[in-house]
Amino acid sequence: MIRLATVSPCYNEEEALTTSVQRLTALFDNLVADQQITPDSMMLFVNDGSTDRSWSIIEQLQQSNHYVCGINLSRNSGHQNAIMAGMMTARHWADAVITIDADLQDDLAAIPLMLQELAAGNEVVYGVKVSRTADPLLKRLSAEAFYHLQRSMGVDSVFNHADFRLLSRRALDMLAQYGESNIYLRGLIPLLGLPSATVDDVISERTAGKSKYNISRMMGLALDGITSFSIKPLYIITYTGMLFLFVSVLIGIYVIHALIAGTAVPGWASLILSIWLVGGFVLIGIGVAGIYIGKIYNEVKRRPLYHIKDLLLQDGNKLD
Ligand code: UDP
Ligand code: MG
Repeated sequence: MIRLATVSPCYNEEEALTTSVQRLTALFDNLVADQQITPDSMMLFVNDGSTDRSWSIIEQLQQSNHYVCGINLSRNSGHQNAIMAGMMTARHWADAVITIDADLQDDLAAIPLMLQELAAGNEVVYGVKVSRTADPLLKRLSAEAFYHLQRSMGVDSVFNHADFRLLSRRALDMLAQYGESNIYLRGLIPLLGLPSATVDDVISERTAGKSKYNISRMMGLALDGITSFSIKPLYIITYTGMLFLFVSVLIGIYVIHALIAGTAVPGWASLILSIWLVGGFVLIGIGVAGIYIGKIYNEVKRRPLYHIKDLLLQDGNKLD
Protein backbone atom coordinates (compact mmCIF):
# COMPACT_ATOMS: atom_id res chain seq x y z
CA MET A 1 0.00 0.00 0.00
CA ILE A 2 1.34 3.42 -0.82
CA ARG A 3 0.68 6.82 0.59
CA LEU A 4 -0.58 8.88 -2.32
CA ALA A 5 -0.72 12.64 -2.71
CA THR A 6 -2.52 14.40 -5.50
CA VAL A 7 -1.22 17.87 -6.24
CA SER A 8 -3.61 20.36 -7.83
CA PRO A 9 -2.66 23.92 -8.72
CA CYS A 10 -5.52 26.39 -8.23
CA TYR A 11 -5.79 29.82 -9.69
CA ASN A 12 -9.23 31.33 -9.16
CA GLU A 13 -10.94 27.96 -8.95
CA GLU A 14 -13.70 28.86 -6.45
CA GLU A 15 -16.40 27.42 -8.73
CA ALA A 16 -14.60 24.12 -9.32
CA LEU A 17 -12.99 23.31 -5.95
CA THR A 18 -15.90 21.86 -3.99
CA THR A 19 -16.98 19.49 -6.77
CA SER A 20 -13.39 18.51 -7.44
CA VAL A 21 -12.83 17.61 -3.79
CA GLN A 22 -16.05 15.58 -3.74
CA ARG A 23 -15.05 13.60 -6.81
CA LEU A 24 -11.51 13.02 -5.55
CA THR A 25 -12.79 11.98 -2.13
CA ALA A 26 -15.05 9.33 -3.68
CA LEU A 27 -12.05 8.03 -5.61
CA PHE A 28 -9.76 8.07 -2.56
CA ASP A 29 -12.37 6.23 -0.47
CA ASN A 30 -12.56 3.49 -3.11
CA LEU A 31 -8.79 3.20 -3.35
CA VAL A 32 -8.49 3.01 0.44
CA ALA A 33 -11.21 0.34 0.58
CA ASP A 34 -9.33 -1.57 -2.15
CA GLN A 35 -6.17 -1.28 -0.06
CA GLN A 36 -4.34 0.44 -2.90
CA ILE A 37 -3.56 3.60 -0.92
CA THR A 38 -3.24 4.32 2.79
CA PRO A 39 -6.04 6.16 4.63
CA ASP A 40 -3.64 9.05 5.37
CA SER A 41 -3.18 9.76 1.66
CA MET A 42 -3.72 13.37 0.78
CA MET A 43 -5.05 15.85 -1.73
CA LEU A 44 -2.80 18.86 -1.77
CA PHE A 45 -4.25 22.03 -3.25
CA VAL A 46 -1.79 24.77 -4.15
CA ASN A 47 -3.41 28.17 -4.17
CA ASP A 48 -1.44 30.12 -6.76
CA GLY A 49 -2.22 33.67 -5.69
CA SER A 50 -5.94 33.48 -6.51
CA THR A 51 -7.86 36.72 -6.29
CA ASP A 52 -11.13 34.95 -5.51
CA ARG A 53 -12.22 32.85 -2.51
CA SER A 54 -10.19 29.77 -3.49
CA TRP A 55 -7.97 29.82 -0.38
CA SER A 56 -10.79 30.21 2.11
CA ILE A 57 -12.61 27.34 0.39
CA ILE A 58 -9.47 25.20 0.73
CA GLU A 59 -9.26 26.17 4.42
CA GLN A 60 -12.88 25.12 4.97
CA LEU A 61 -12.47 21.85 3.11
CA GLN A 62 -9.34 21.07 5.11
CA GLN A 63 -11.39 21.38 8.31
CA SER A 64 -14.03 18.93 7.19
CA ASN A 65 -12.13 16.47 4.99
CA HIS A 66 -9.14 14.57 6.39
CA TYR A 67 -7.58 14.06 2.95
CA VAL A 68 -7.38 17.76 2.14
CA CYS A 69 -4.20 19.82 2.64
CA GLY A 70 -3.33 23.21 1.25
CA ILE A 71 -0.43 25.41 0.32
CA ASN A 72 -0.95 29.12 -0.08
CA LEU A 73 1.66 30.76 -2.30
CA SER A 74 2.47 34.38 -1.57
CA ARG A 75 1.53 35.47 -5.10
CA ASN A 76 0.66 34.13 -8.53
CA SER A 77 3.74 32.15 -9.57
CA GLY A 78 2.35 30.31 -12.59
CA HIS A 79 1.01 26.83 -13.23
CA GLN A 80 4.39 25.06 -13.51
CA ASN A 81 5.81 26.67 -10.37
CA ALA A 82 2.62 25.93 -8.43
CA ILE A 83 2.88 22.24 -9.37
CA MET A 84 6.55 22.31 -8.36
CA ALA A 85 5.65 23.82 -4.96
CA GLY A 86 3.08 21.07 -4.37
CA MET A 87 5.34 18.22 -5.44
CA MET A 88 8.34 19.44 -3.48
CA THR A 89 6.19 19.73 -0.36
CA ALA A 90 4.32 16.43 -0.80
CA ARG A 91 7.50 14.41 -1.39
CA HIS A 92 8.28 14.63 2.33
CA TRP A 93 5.35 12.32 3.12
CA ALA A 94 4.03 10.72 -0.01
CA ASP A 95 5.35 7.59 -1.74
CA ALA A 96 3.97 8.88 -5.01
CA VAL A 97 2.45 12.10 -6.30
CA ILE A 98 -0.14 12.53 -9.03
CA THR A 99 -0.43 16.02 -10.46
CA ILE A 100 -3.90 16.85 -11.74
CA ASP A 101 -5.41 20.25 -12.52
CA ALA A 102 -7.95 21.49 -10.01
CA ASP A 103 -10.70 21.59 -12.65
CA LEU A 104 -10.42 17.76 -12.97
CA GLN A 105 -10.61 17.84 -16.77
CA ASP A 106 -8.36 14.81 -16.70
CA ASP A 107 -9.66 11.30 -16.39
CA LEU A 108 -10.02 10.12 -12.78
CA ALA A 109 -10.38 6.56 -14.09
CA ALA A 110 -6.71 6.79 -15.12
CA ILE A 111 -5.54 7.14 -11.51
CA PRO A 112 -6.01 3.45 -10.48
CA LEU A 113 -4.23 2.51 -13.73
CA MET A 114 -1.35 4.81 -12.82
CA LEU A 115 -1.09 3.08 -9.45
CA GLN A 116 -0.99 -0.30 -11.20
CA GLU A 117 1.86 0.89 -13.40
CA LEU A 118 3.70 2.11 -10.30
CA ALA A 119 3.24 -1.30 -8.68
CA ALA A 120 4.63 -2.86 -11.86
CA GLY A 121 7.88 -0.99 -11.31
CA ASN A 122 7.42 2.26 -13.23
CA GLU A 123 8.61 5.43 -11.53
CA VAL A 124 6.91 7.82 -13.96
CA VAL A 125 3.44 7.35 -15.46
CA TYR A 126 2.22 9.81 -18.07
CA GLY A 127 -1.45 10.51 -18.70
CA VAL A 128 -1.79 10.76 -22.48
CA LYS A 129 -4.80 12.53 -23.94
CA VAL A 130 -6.56 10.04 -26.19
CA SER A 131 -9.61 12.11 -26.91
CA ARG A 132 -9.58 15.87 -26.82
CA THR A 133 -13.04 16.44 -28.19
CA ALA A 134 -13.88 18.48 -25.07
CA ASP A 135 -11.05 20.92 -25.92
CA PRO A 136 -11.82 23.73 -28.37
CA LEU A 137 -10.70 22.90 -31.93
CA LEU A 138 -8.15 25.71 -32.09
CA LYS A 139 -6.55 24.63 -28.82
CA ARG A 140 -6.36 21.04 -30.00
CA LEU A 141 -4.81 21.89 -33.36
CA SER A 142 -2.32 24.39 -31.96
CA ALA A 143 -1.30 21.96 -29.21
CA GLU A 144 -0.71 19.16 -31.71
CA ALA A 145 1.27 21.42 -34.05
CA PHE A 146 3.34 22.45 -31.06
CA TYR A 147 4.16 18.86 -30.07
CA HIS A 148 5.44 18.26 -33.61
CA LEU A 149 7.48 21.47 -33.64
CA GLN A 150 8.99 20.55 -30.30
CA ARG A 151 10.00 17.14 -31.63
CA SER A 152 11.61 18.66 -34.71
CA MET A 153 13.63 20.93 -32.45
CA GLY A 154 15.02 17.88 -30.71
CA VAL A 155 13.09 18.17 -27.44
CA ASP A 156 12.22 14.77 -25.99
CA SER A 157 8.63 14.86 -24.75
CA VAL A 158 5.58 12.62 -24.71
CA PHE A 159 3.02 13.38 -27.45
CA ASN A 160 -0.32 14.71 -26.15
CA HIS A 161 0.78 14.51 -22.54
CA ALA A 162 0.27 17.63 -20.43
CA ASP A 163 0.78 17.79 -16.69
CA PHE A 164 -1.33 14.83 -15.58
CA ARG A 165 1.25 12.33 -14.34
CA LEU A 166 2.38 10.14 -11.50
CA LEU A 167 5.87 10.45 -10.08
CA SER A 168 7.38 8.13 -7.50
CA ARG A 169 9.25 9.44 -4.47
CA ARG A 170 12.49 8.59 -6.24
CA ALA A 171 11.51 10.61 -9.32
CA LEU A 172 10.58 13.56 -7.10
CA ASP A 173 13.90 13.43 -5.26
CA MET A 174 15.72 13.41 -8.58
CA LEU A 175 13.61 16.28 -9.86
CA ALA A 176 14.51 18.27 -6.73
CA GLN A 177 18.12 18.29 -7.88
CA TYR A 178 17.30 20.34 -10.97
CA GLY A 179 18.06 23.89 -9.95
CA GLU A 180 16.66 25.70 -12.97
CA SER A 181 14.30 28.65 -12.84
CA ASN A 182 12.61 28.23 -16.23
CA ILE A 183 10.49 25.24 -15.33
CA TYR A 184 8.87 23.18 -18.07
CA LEU A 185 8.03 19.86 -16.46
CA ARG A 186 7.07 18.05 -19.66
CA GLY A 187 10.63 18.49 -20.86
CA LEU A 188 12.36 17.87 -17.52
CA ILE A 189 10.73 14.57 -16.53
CA PRO A 190 11.97 12.54 -19.54
CA LEU A 191 15.50 13.72 -18.61
CA LEU A 192 15.26 11.72 -15.37
CA GLY A 193 15.60 8.56 -17.46
CA LEU A 194 13.45 6.46 -15.13
CA PRO A 195 11.27 3.54 -16.27
CA SER A 196 7.98 5.00 -17.43
CA ALA A 197 4.59 4.00 -18.78
CA THR A 198 1.58 5.78 -20.24
CA VAL A 199 -2.11 5.51 -19.47
CA ASP A 200 -5.07 6.85 -21.45
CA ASP A 201 -6.57 10.15 -20.36
CA VAL A 202 -9.99 11.05 -21.73
CA ILE A 203 -10.32 14.82 -21.37
CA SER A 204 -13.69 16.17 -20.30
CA GLU A 205 -15.15 19.64 -20.01
CA ARG A 206 -14.21 21.82 -17.07
CA THR A 207 -16.63 21.06 -14.20
CA ALA A 208 -16.92 24.81 -13.52
CA GLY A 209 -15.15 28.09 -14.08
CA LYS A 210 -13.19 29.28 -17.09
CA SER A 211 -9.80 28.34 -18.54
CA LYS A 212 -6.94 30.32 -17.01
CA TYR A 213 -4.71 29.76 -20.01
CA ASN A 214 -5.11 32.59 -22.49
CA ILE A 215 -3.24 32.85 -25.80
CA SER A 216 -0.28 34.71 -24.32
CA ARG A 217 0.16 32.17 -21.50
CA MET A 218 0.00 29.33 -24.02
CA MET A 219 2.54 31.08 -26.27
CA GLY A 220 4.80 31.61 -23.26
CA LEU A 221 4.61 27.95 -22.29
CA ALA A 222 5.26 26.88 -25.89
CA LEU A 223 8.31 29.13 -26.20
CA ASP A 224 9.64 27.83 -22.87
CA GLY A 225 9.05 24.29 -24.03
CA ILE A 226 11.44 24.81 -26.90
CA THR A 227 13.95 27.36 -25.69
CA SER A 228 14.51 25.70 -22.29
CA PHE A 229 15.59 22.46 -23.91
CA SER A 230 16.92 23.10 -27.38
CA ILE A 231 19.44 25.49 -28.90
CA LYS A 232 18.48 24.35 -32.39
CA PRO A 233 16.66 27.63 -33.23
CA LEU A 234 19.96 29.48 -32.82
CA TYR A 235 21.61 27.15 -35.33
CA ILE A 236 18.70 27.37 -37.77
CA ILE A 237 18.99 31.14 -37.74
CA THR A 238 22.74 31.03 -38.22
CA TYR A 239 22.40 28.68 -41.19
CA THR A 240 19.61 30.84 -42.66
CA GLY A 241 21.93 33.83 -42.34
CA MET A 242 24.64 31.94 -44.25
CA LEU A 243 22.15 31.03 -46.96
CA PHE A 244 21.14 34.67 -47.24
CA LEU A 245 24.78 35.67 -47.62
CA PHE A 246 25.19 33.16 -50.41
CA VAL A 247 22.05 34.39 -52.17
CA SER A 248 23.21 37.99 -51.91
CA VAL A 249 26.50 37.05 -53.62
CA LEU A 250 24.47 35.53 -56.47
CA ILE A 251 22.35 38.69 -56.68
CA GLY A 252 25.57 40.75 -56.72
CA ILE A 253 26.88 38.78 -59.68
CA TYR A 254 23.56 39.24 -61.47
CA VAL A 255 23.59 43.01 -60.82
CA ILE A 256 27.14 43.37 -62.18
CA HIS A 257 26.12 41.36 -65.21
CA ALA A 258 23.04 43.55 -65.76
CA LEU A 259 25.15 46.71 -65.41
CA ILE A 260 27.65 45.51 -67.98
CA ALA A 261 24.91 44.38 -70.38
CA GLY A 262 23.07 47.68 -69.82
CA THR A 263 19.79 45.99 -68.88
CA ALA A 264 19.65 47.34 -65.32
CA VAL A 265 16.21 48.76 -64.50
CA PRO A 266 15.23 50.88 -61.53
CA GLY A 267 14.25 48.11 -59.08
CA TRP A 268 12.45 49.95 -56.34
CA ALA A 269 9.87 47.22 -55.76
CA SER A 270 12.34 44.39 -55.37
CA LEU A 271 14.57 46.58 -53.24
CA ILE A 272 11.90 47.54 -50.76
CA LEU A 273 10.69 43.95 -50.67
CA SER A 274 14.09 42.59 -49.80
CA ILE A 275 14.62 45.22 -47.13
CA TRP A 276 11.49 44.03 -45.38
CA LEU A 277 12.31 40.40 -45.89
CA VAL A 278 15.86 40.67 -44.61
CA GLY A 279 14.77 43.05 -41.86
CA GLY A 280 12.25 40.46 -40.73
CA PHE A 281 14.80 37.72 -40.55
CA VAL A 282 17.24 39.93 -38.67
CA LEU A 283 14.58 40.81 -36.12
CA ILE A 284 13.64 37.15 -35.63
CA GLY A 285 17.31 36.36 -35.19
CA ILE A 286 17.79 39.06 -32.60
CA GLY A 287 14.60 38.01 -30.87
CA VAL A 288 15.56 34.36 -30.61
CA ALA A 289 19.07 35.20 -29.39
CA GLY A 290 17.43 37.58 -26.92
CA ILE A 291 15.16 34.85 -25.55
CA TYR A 292 18.17 32.71 -24.73
CA ILE A 293 20.02 35.62 -23.15
CA GLY A 294 16.90 36.40 -21.13
CA LYS A 295 16.86 32.81 -19.90
CA ILE A 296 20.50 33.00 -18.87
CA TYR A 297 19.65 36.21 -17.04
CA ASN A 298 16.83 34.46 -15.17
CA GLU A 299 18.92 31.40 -14.37
CA VAL A 300 21.94 33.27 -12.98
CA LYS A 301 19.75 35.12 -10.50
CA ARG A 302 18.73 31.80 -8.93
CA ARG A 303 15.56 33.29 -7.56
CA PRO A 304 13.26 30.91 -5.68
CA LEU A 305 10.40 29.65 -7.85
CA TYR A 306 7.72 30.41 -5.23
CA HIS A 307 7.21 31.41 -1.62
CA ILE A 308 4.87 29.48 0.64
CA LYS A 309 2.77 31.78 2.80
CA ASP A 310 0.57 29.26 4.65
CA LEU A 311 0.60 25.51 4.93
CA LEU A 312 -2.41 23.44 5.99
CA LEU A 313 -1.44 19.88 6.75
CA GLN A 314 -2.99 16.71 8.09
CA ASP A 315 -2.36 16.08 11.78
CA GLY A 316 1.07 14.63 12.34
CA ASN A 317 2.66 15.95 9.16
CA LYS A 318 5.39 18.44 9.82
CA LEU A 319 7.80 20.18 7.53
CA ASP A 320 11.30 20.21 9.00
N1 UDP B 1 -3.28 27.60 -12.82
C1 UDP B 1 -2.38 28.01 -11.84
N2 UDP B 1 -1.73 29.21 -11.99
C2 UDP B 1 -1.92 29.99 -13.08
C3 UDP B 1 -2.81 29.54 -14.10
C4 UDP B 1 -3.48 28.34 -13.95
O1 UDP B 1 -2.18 27.33 -10.84
O2 UDP B 1 -1.31 31.05 -13.14
C5 UDP B 1 -3.98 26.30 -12.65
C6 UDP B 1 -5.50 26.32 -12.85
O3 UDP B 1 -6.16 26.64 -11.66
C7 UDP B 1 -5.77 24.87 -13.27
C8 UDP B 1 -4.50 24.50 -14.02
O4 UDP B 1 -3.50 25.45 -13.65
O5 UDP B 1 -5.88 23.99 -12.16
C9 UDP B 1 -4.68 24.50 -15.52
O6 UDP B 1 -5.33 25.69 -15.93
P1 UDP B 1 -6.60 25.71 -16.88
O7 UDP B 1 -7.52 24.60 -16.51
O8 UDP B 1 -7.15 27.08 -16.84
O9 UDP B 1 -5.93 25.43 -18.28
P2 UDP B 1 -6.53 24.56 -19.48
O10 UDP B 1 -6.94 23.23 -18.90
O11 UDP B 1 -7.68 25.33 -20.00
O12 UDP B 1 -5.37 24.46 -20.43
MG1 MG C 1 -8.18 22.89 -17.42
